[in-house]
Amino acid sequence: MNVLETPIEFLKGVGPARSELMRTEMGVRTFGGLLHYYPFRHIDRSKFYPISEIDPEAAMVQVKGKFIRIDGIGAKRIVRMVGAFQDDQGNIMEVAWFRSLTWIKQSIKTDVDYVLFGKPGMFKGKLQMTHPEIELAENFGKGLKGGLEGVYSTTEKLKARKLDSRAIRKLMEVLIPQVMNQITETLPGYIRSRQDLIPRASALKDIHFPANTETLVQAQKTLKFEELFYVQMRLMNIKAKRNKEIRGQVFAAVGDHFNSFYNNHLPFALTDAQKRVIKEIRKDMGTGNQLNRLLQGDVGSGKTVVALLCALIAIDNGFQAAIMAPTEILAQQHYETIFELLSEMHINVAILTGSSKTAYRKKLHANLENGQIHLLIGTHALLEDKVKFHNLGFVVIDEQHRFGVAQRSKLWRKNSIPPHVLVMTATPIPRTLAMTVYGDLDVSVIDELPPGRKPIKTVHRGDGGRLQVFGFMKEEIKKGRQIYVVYPLIEESEAFDYKDLMDGYESIARAFPIPEYQVSIVHGKMKPEDKEFEMKRFAEGKCQIMVATTVIEVGVNVPNASVMVIESAERFGLSQLHQLRGRVGRGADQSFCILMTGNKLSNEGRKRISTMCETNDGFRIAEVDLKLRGPGDLMGTQQSGIMDFNIADIVKDKEILIKSREEANYIFENDPTLEHEKLAIVKAHLSSIMRKKPNWGRIS
Ligand code: ADP
Ligand code: MG
Repeated sequence: MNVLETPIEFLKGVGPARSELMRTEMGVRTFGGLLHYYPFRHIDRSKFYPISEIDPEAAMVQVKGKFIRIDGIGAKRIVRMVGAFQDDQGNIMEVAWFRSLTWIKQSIKTDVDYVLFGKPGMFKGKLQMTHPEIELAENFGKGLKGGLEGVYSTTEKLKARKLDSRAIRKLMEVLIPQVMNQITETLPGYIRSRQDLIPRASALKDIHFPANTETLVQAQKTLKFEELFYVQMRLMNIKAKRNKEIRGQVFAAVGDHFNSFYNNHLPFALTDAQKRVIKEIRKDMGTGNQLNRLLQGDVGSGKTVVALLCALIAIDNGFQAAIMAPTEILAQQHYETIFELLSEMHINVAILTGSSKTAYRKKLHANLENGQIHLLIGTHALLEDKVKFHNLGFVVIDEQHRFGVAQRSKLWRKNSIPPHVLVMTATPIPRTLAMTVYGDLDVSVIDELPPGRKPIKTVHRGDGGRLQVFGFMKEEIKKGRQIYVVYPLIEESEAFDYKDLMDGYESIARAFPIPEYQVSIVHGKMKPEDKEFEMKRFAEGKCQIMVATTVIEVGVNVPNASVMVIESAERFGLSQLHQLRGRVGRGADQSFCILMTGNKLSNEGRKRISTMCETNDGFRIAEVDLKLRGPGDLMGTQQSGIMDFNIADIVKDKEILIKSREEANYIFENDPTLEHEKLAIVKAHLSSIMRKKPNWGRIS
């Protein structure tokens, strides 16, 4: 048996009880498992601080010297031990212990050289260190240890069994010499030399015990590359397999509906980006592969018409199409827009939402099943089992982040042959990242806005600026513009937020009195028909101000609205702010976004606000957002397990991600079945991964 597969309990210093704990707390079962339990940071142990230079605020410092005194403190019994530790410059620092006092008393000696390592602090005006790691100076730096020391994450339970970071490090010292000669390469030599990577065995040793920063960086790069490369290989493998196994409907022709609409009814010329994306989608639809594509495009880039044109291709080929939106308001709006666009064509469009009436539904169900309805627009209601199609060929999911992965898969069951699926999102992320995060989806990007849009001017105002903002709003209203005022509504504090909203509404109603002004309000607690009534009033220009919660976040389209005021803007995430801002700037007029915040802002809040003021580019905003929050929050990824990286961070390690993707791509383009001899280790390693994680790719 391979040493790496030896159960961890047989490692010297582990044993049955600890091994059980290591399994549950660290997920480590074998020698190999422990080897891949990497330190989460490293500390420079090559440097000793003179006591005179220690900053009490510093994280961890290392000091060399001797105790000149060690005393037990306490009236009846000793409650703490305090030592005076002196370095070779003669300066003194206090060291205190509150636990393991007997052990300290017996084993720590005065006038012997020690190396202390710990977090400095101040106590009663004196520099102090409590419970430092202590090592005899004569033992320091022996064994495998290099200049940098790994810090391992541990838990209370582990610590109770004396498995702290230091103990884990000790286990590594035992483990690594035993397994070194068993470590095999997973990357072919040509990739290693091209990408400037080190042998895998060295990388694994150095990640635990790097001699210096350079070695550490090399080791990290090598291990990150390996991890990201195999993620890409798995994705490509899964996609290739799916394309082989699952046949999609073949839409052979672009027919009359498409052409007639394109030539006679399209109210504007498509942008080059829209044309390119339609071509990409069209190509997939024609091949017999099942389309599984993510369409990324900034707010206002014109995704709806792309979806519609593709739906027409499906209809031209004798299939039905569906467009699914995350909210009723949005579904309603899509329906109206599309109904209008198609008004002179012989296409039956219908809408289905949660509030569709029973009698209407009955008829709708029948007309769907007999194929009379060509295009169905709706909400989640489309997913219900009762909703059956005659032959559904194409589904668009708008604003993907509201839909879970599981819901997407429900669509597949609507037809014996799965329909083509186009997922549209206005929360763009960098392309390479998207391909990784959304796994087996192909990615198309609309990277251009329709011509003539004026960039929205965004400003930040504090509470003190409110009157001025009201004044500005009045000026804009005088010019005939309309205004949104948005309040946050976050579930945990709903009651509180609701009060904020109502107070805000009242103060606006006071500042903008009837009959000169009309103010409407929309929030999630309202009945759908009331919401719709208010939205309609606003859309028709019957009121100038709409006070709302984020229900208007996605998709709402009122071109005459040109001012977006966001209250408590610091409480919104970046992508949400960007979405909200995207509600204005849809007409020809100069639009404005005013971010209102309190005066106290966290660093992160400040960064979000300043990013919004600096740029209108959704891709740039998404990148900042990813950097602030990390990739863990990306929608639809938690379930897929793609984000379970051991060492790589797909945001911070973007360069490595791109390089690894290039290498994987090259292989799949030139030798998809990995026949070439130099790819033998890739083939072997990939199949062992696929064996271990067989379900990993079932994303859509
Ligand atoms: P989003 O990508 O945010 O869903 P929409 O599809 O709602 O954007 O489009 C935003 C607005 O831009 C709509 O009013 C739409 O009619 C208009 N639009 C879309 N494409 C073009 C184009 N090529 N030229 C001019 N206007 C366009
Ligand atoms: Mg949209």
